Amino acid sequence: MLQSNLYIPTLKEVPNDAQIPSHQLMLRGAMVRQLGSGIFSYLPLGYKVAKKVMNIIREEMDAIGGQEFHLPALNPIEIWEQTGRVEAMGDVMFHIKNREGLVLAPTHEEIITFHARQHIKSYRDLPQIWYQIQTKFRNEPRPKSGVLRGRQFTMKDAYSLDNSWEGLDVSYNKHAEAYRNIYSRCGLKFFVVGASSGAMGGSASQEFMVESPYGEDTCAVCEDSGYAANIEVATSEIAPIERLTDNPEVEEFPTPGARTINHLIEKFSIPLDRCAKSVVCFADGKPYLVLMSGNDELNESKLQSALQATAIRHADETELFDLTGAHAGSIGPINLKTPMTVIADKRLENVNGLVSGANKDKFHYRNIDMSRDCKIEGYYDLRSVKGGELCPTGCGKELRVVNAIEVGHIFKLGTKYSQALGATFLDDSGVENPIIMGSYGIGVERIIACFIEQSHDEKGIMFVPSIAPYHVHLLGLGIKKSDAVKRTCEQLEIELQSKNIEVLYDDRDVSPGVKFNDADLLGMPIQLIIGEKNLSAGNVEIKNRITGERHVVSVDDSTDLIKKLLVSK
Ligand code: ATP
Ligand code: MG
Repeated sequence: MLQSNLYIPTLKEVPNDAQIPSHQLMLRGAMVRQLGSGIFSYLPLGYKVAKKVMNIIREEMDAIGGQEFHLPALNPIEIWEQTGRVEAMGDVMFHIKNREGLVLAPTHEEIITFHARQHIKSYRDLPQIWYQIQTKFRNEPRPKSGVLRGRQFTMKDAYSLDNSWEGLDVSYNKHAEAYRNIYSRCGLKFFVVGASSGAMGGSASQEFMVESPYGEDTCAVCEDSGYAANIEVATSEIAPIERLTDNPEVEEFPTPGARTINHLIEKFSIPLDRCAKSVVCFADGKPYLVLMSGNDELNESKLQSALQATAIRHADETELFDLTGAHAGSIGPINLKTPMTVIADKRLENVNGLVSGANKDKFHYRNIDMSRDCKIEGYYDLRSVKGGELCPTGCGKELRVVNAIEVGHIFKLGTKYSQALGATFLDDSGVENPIIMGSYGIGVERIIACFIEQSHDEKGIMFVPSIAPYHVHLLGLGIKKSDAVKRTCEQLEIELQSKNIEVLYDDRDVSPGVKFNDADLLGMPIQLIIGEKNLSAGNVEIKNRITGERHVVSVDDSTDLIKKLLVSK
């Protein structure tokens, strides 16, 4: 491909509105342009990458028996109403204004179930794996970070239909394996976090995550044991708080100026593990006092599942005072003005010698014995794991707490959608059952942006061959001046293409510096540099974009070496 004929508008400067490397490089490297908030156009180079990613996904989905559909983005709202998801999606769903009854699909569980209902009649028609690679629309409140969170984006969504729960396990595991293959083939380093939503009965889900400081999820990971979990469910091995043998009566003592646990430690010499911190929350409108050990952070997701609540919120200053009789810093489980349910983190179970607020400003109680002095309704794991704590598998290594981006999600749906939409099959004894379903999503743009987050340097992108727009960037230096250079370029382009190697040939009449900078920015895995000096000795130069290694080889040997380098990546 002659670069002089192509539309590759690279940018020298970092665009102002792009904060994260992948966004900056996708703009600078002529892959995408922004059309509106959360709306991006692919330029030819970017779309070449997207097509390669989509083909990898397609091959892996076909390999597990997936059948490709293409469903409309425009959906009758009526189908979505039957599953209650118009309400559940809320503002995220785009509604069409001038044609009542139509919405833009943010995902396709409903439509797949609709088609399953049409013609699946018997257990013999199952299992099925149906997928598509298609455009999704979500009215994300604050689209940011470039294509990582778009209002229009490309998703591979797959759905499994089974006639037994064991069948669902098989389909689910096939997808988990396919996803691992997809990310590996795209050159992505990823980890998997599991979340079992017990309340839904038999349902399970796993998210595929890529570590990144720009990720919106927080996860605890251990490279040694392979443990990885979303912070919402992560646990660690943490030393228990010992019970003291000396167990005197509770007594009040003045604590002027002690508004935090650190004040208690510093000003009043209370050991950290003898401090009990109180947090007042409302769970579905009902107030709870939650006791945590020392400076442990209350994890709201854990609290929400412990209380099986749909919404949690912290009490504001006025509510806090009204409920307890004191201001923040002096709150505790004893002597509450308004009686409320008290629960505590597991670490505090049966602990004594504790200090906590007296529900009277500037006073605390000491010698609190959780079993003797408090009425605790339940002990739960409510704390957020901290980096540096030990891995819960017992491997003895420390956990790292990292930010991460979700690149994929696999989910055992069960019968939620088939029941709501009446998609059933007759089992081998003629009994009608709802189809057992799974749903599996991958974001195409997220794969691309996450890959660039992981694989770039200060000069630009570093593509692996599997998703690079071209394998080789052929840089002809001074082609206008040297016929020999021009001829060698043309000869090598043909030779490479005959070996199924894709070549972007920079034949532009610009300085070598401009060519080198653009080549490093665009990030093809191999640069083949043809200049007069090397050529006069019958040689060309080959640069590996990822390792930076350079080889000067004869023209004749160059294409074989390139082939070798591309395979060894
Ligand atoms: P998030 O929590 O990041 O909003 P999600 O859990 O809503 O994502 P799913 O409904 O599980 O996402 O969608 C499957 C996949 O689609 C995600 O794993 C992600 O890769 C991709 N995806 C979801 N929302 C977006 C978006 N707004 N822009 C780009 N890709 C997205
Ligand atoms: Mg998800």
